[in-house]
Amino acid sequence: GAAEPASSAVKAGMGAGGNVGRMLERFSAAGYSIEIVGHSLGGGVATLLALLLHAENSNIKIDVYAYAVPACVSPRLENRCHRRPTDKGGVKVISTILQDDAVPRASARNILALAKEIVERKKEWQPALAREIKDIQRRALGLWAPMTRSTHWMRMEKEGPGGALEALPANVHGGGEGTGKPLEEPLSPLDIKAAGVLLLPPGPIIHIFSKNGQRRASLVQPTWAGFGRVEVSRHMFTDHSREYITAAMRDVLAARSAPNKPPIWPDAPHIGPVLCAVCGYSVAWASSSDNPLEQSRELRHCYACGRIVCSGCSSAKLTLPEYGILSSVRVCEHCYVGSTTSPPSWRHHTKGILNDSKTP
Ligand SMILES: [Zn+2]
Ligand SMILES: [Zn+2]
Repeated sequence: GAAEPASSAVKAGMGAGGNVGRMLERFSAAGYSIEIVGHSLGGGVATLLALLLHAENSNIKIDVYAYAVPACVSPRLENRCHRRPTDKGGVKVISTILQDDAVPRASARNILALAKEIVERKKEWQPALAREIKDIQRRALGLWAPMTRSTHWMRMEKEGPGGALEALPANVHGGGEGTGKPLEEPLSPLDIKAAGVLLLPPGPIIHIFSKNGQRRASLVQPTWAGFGRVEVSRHMFTDHSREYITAAMRDVLAARSAPNKPPIWPDAPHIGPVLCAVCGYSVAWASSSDNPLEQSRELRHCYACGRIVCSGCSSAKLTLPEYGILSSVRVCEHCYVGSTTSPPSWRHHTKGILNDSKTP
């Protein structure tokens, strides 16, 4: 269906231009194997190009390696990406998808399901959102406003009245209730048909995930339930980047030949405060928020010993080749001191310290 117009367009392009198709056919006939590689939209183009070339010449054999690839436009198209060992020619796509990458999952069906879930669970997130907005306003008043004011006074001394303070948005002065208007309108599905179709990334998929801080990979089919929904996580967009995928693939290989298994990461206790294994205080001590939801985001494990630690006691980073972790990862003070003789200069506990969002 949807691939046909594109097919004739590319055919016309190939006929008029570079003869790429004919060249690849000749290579294929001479016994060369043909591999096309692409990332994101490039992975989609690589898949389509391979299918188009195969449609022209059914004897041609093409392997496609697609990274962080979006879903196919139709289930029929996806079906053509699995060459069987007995087939003379055909297309074999192997996709690689890192953990929570939202792009391969971003079909109309999954996006509408996500929007529906957000609306349905409004009662759960709305009070938390209102609290968070209040927190942010309180912090803006406590941190940002005084800084702006001092700039204002400095400017006043030079230039006379006017400027920064007057320019502050009204709600920063007021600090009132959270008024961020959430999704109020009931969803009118843009396309009910599109919402019903399960669109899948092409080919068998190497899915990379993390367990106890270690990168692992497993081969899954596109119908795996994990691709049937958009997972809301802080990695849902960074997991799409080539840099993260490359580092993750390298760490998967390293983990397979690593001499030791990493310690098992404990879950946070369900009741009571979560205590830092190093300093013994609540892990939320460094949080500038009183909001439990925001505090729960502060939950972090030391990659070396697996224990739950606060941000102040885990600001150091190390690579841990014994576990196959070649990227720099967060470790607790004990593990860091145990690994080096240099003085821990990162030791100061600053209230309101910013989270290092780069740590996976
Ligand atoms: Zn601590
Ligand atoms: Zn540790």
